[in-house]
Amino acid sequence: MNSPDPSLSAPNLAPTRLASLRARIAAAARVASRPAGDITLIAVSKTHPAGDILPLLTEGQRVFGENRVQEAEAKWPALREQYPDVALHLIGQLQSNKAEEAVRLFDCIHSLDRPSLVAALGRAMDKAARQVPCFVQVNIGAEPQKGGCTIADLAPLLAEARAAGIPLAGLMCVPPAGIEAAPFFALADKLARDNGLTGLSMGMSEDFETAIQLGATHIRVGSALFGARG
Ligand SMILES: *Cc1c(COP(=O)(O)O)cnc(C)c1O
Repeated sequence: MNSPDPSLSAPNLAPTRLASLRARIAAAARVASRPAGDITLIAVSKTHPAGDILPLLTEGQRVFGENRVQEAEAKWPALREQYPDVALHLIGQLQSNKAEEAVRLFDCIHSLDRPSLVAALGRAMDKAARQVPCFVQVNIGAEPQKGGCTIADLAPLLAEARAAGIPLAGLMCVPPAGIEAAPFFALADKLARDNGLTGLSMGMSEDFETAIQLGATHIRVGSALFGARG
């Protein structure tokens, strides 16, 4: 007998996971008295190959998130030939020297967090004649190892981004791991309102329902769709 090859026998769980996720989003929206259509599901496909992504495209998912410019450049051009209406979001940290590539490749950037990146993205958008909406990332739990501007730096950074002509989509945050996320989501919602922003990119596999209760407009979900990352 040949030993079984798990990659051949593995069932395609993507349609079931996507259907279940859509149902959970709809239920959370109902509880919050919000239209489910106000919440954009970003399927975070980082580390997953095209073969894992295709079943979701087949099921109609069109918004995807990647955290590395180079990985996205390797995977997405071929997939986009087949599915030209895909929207690709950059959710990871961005180095200023990759701003031009990011502006060409992505439809939205979630990690604008410092003046040098405002300048680099402003120049890249002018050069490419392409306006890419950006979320400003806030380091909502003041964690030294995490990206995002401090709360104190937020208002001046937003002013710089507006002056540079960068279209602002809203605020993005990743609350500290291991403790209740709700207070951080609520704070992000307040900061967005105080600064005249409507978009809120917050909530991942473990906490997207809480994020929806607290105003998330964009949730970034990876493992609940693709399984654990290897
Ligand atoms: C990986 C990642 C996600 C998705 O996390 P899951 O827990 O797999 O849903 C969301 N946001 C950011 C910024 C990420 O890096």
